[in-house]
Amino acid sequence: MQTRGYAVMTSGAPLTPFTFERRELRPTDVAFDITHAGICHSDIHTARGEWGSPLLPLVPGHEIVGVVTAVGSEQTKFSIGDRIGVGVFVDSCGKCENCLSGHQNYCFEGMTGTYNTLERDGVTPAHGGYSNKFVIDQEYAVKVPANLDMAGVAPLLCAGITLYSPLRHWNVKPGMKVGIIGLGGLGHMGVKLASAMGAEVTVFSHSANKESDAKRFGAKHFVLTKEAGFFEPLKETFDLVLNTVSAEIDINDYLHLLKLDGTLVVIGLPGKPYAVNVFNLLRMRRSLAGSMIGGLPELQEMLDFCGEHGVVSDVEVIKADYINEAYDRTVASDVKYRFVIDASTF
Ligand code: NAP
Ligand code: ZN
Ligand code: ZN
Repeated sequence: MQTRGYAVMTSGAPLTPFTFERRELRPTDVAFDITHAGICHSDIHTARGEWGSPLLPLVPGHEIVGVVTAVGSEQTKFSIGDRIGVGVFVDSCGKCENCLSGHQNYCFEGMTGTYNTLERDGVTPAHGGYSNKFVIDQEYAVKVPANLDMAGVAPLLCAGITLYSPLRHWNVKPGMKVGIIGLGGLGHMGVKLASAMGAEVTVFSHSANKESDAKRFGAKHFVLTKEAGFFEPLKETFDLVLNTVSAEIDINDYLHLLKLDGTLVVIGLPGKPYAVNVFNLLRMRRSLAGSMIGGLPELQEMLDFCGEHGVVSDVEVIKADYINEAYDRTVASDVKYRFVIDASTF
């Protein structure tokens, strides 16, 4: 089916309009008109070659919501008119231990990303959500709660699940102290979700002008990280700290924050190795961990949780021709707090 989108056509170039074909419906497929697609910093890392050379033409976008327009002959999950969401992957082997336990994001064969890869047939390029139409197998799409604003839901498909999953995995509950480093697309969802789970949340930010927003999202404390030794008064007080920063930071400063058996989870992916002083790990028996998005059951659980708690992303809705400017503003930490493209403008 003919689809209009925006793509990086040649290495290092800005995104420009691009028309391409999506596959015709297979029996268990569902097709939908995209209403909104979020701009994740991973789109920018990929489009700008910060994680290696992308597969061109590259149509980024893995925070996708829309309305179902057609269903395959054996499709059972969605009806025409349903609100639907797609996140960071569109397929996986479906047979390995991790896929069978609902952790498709950790598929042993590797998940099939929503863009910058080939589909599992090995020939069809996977094109992402910066476009007006999408086709996917029903198993890899989720249902969007009826009470939530679609533009605000789009970022939940990556930013939301990426913070929800570690908060759940490390059993965040009332009384726990959680730190979120970086108040961007991911970070602001972390604040909203951890607060909704009852945690006492502290934001660590290098942007002084974000304090009132952090508190509006539910944070109790705001720490400006520009001052050397900012962590001193808070040493050994946190159960869990989540690093969502897209740039290189000194992780050792933040390890000091963890109390006995506390964990620092790396989520931001600037692409360079960390220098870790292991004395900071040994002290207080701390853990340094990583977490990557979430599996399909958890993705649906997160959306249902957001439906119950009325949680959506704070977004700036833009037209397709603003994508390149939105990239620059995101890199400059100048977005409140996620750019979302109105897909009717493709
Ligand atoms: P974003 O909206 O650009 O937010 C990143 C935040 O990091 C900024 O808002 C800023 O927060 C802080 N920051 C940026 N530059 C900084 C600098 N030079 N020094 C200190 N702090 C800085 O990005 P995002 O979409 O949330 O993504 C964040 C990172 O997570 C990216 O690297 C992305 O690729 C990665 N990611 C990982 C996963 C996963 O599964 N693990 C999933 C999605 C994305 P303040 O202004 O508050 O300091
Ligand atoms: Zn993402
Ligand atoms: Zn698998």
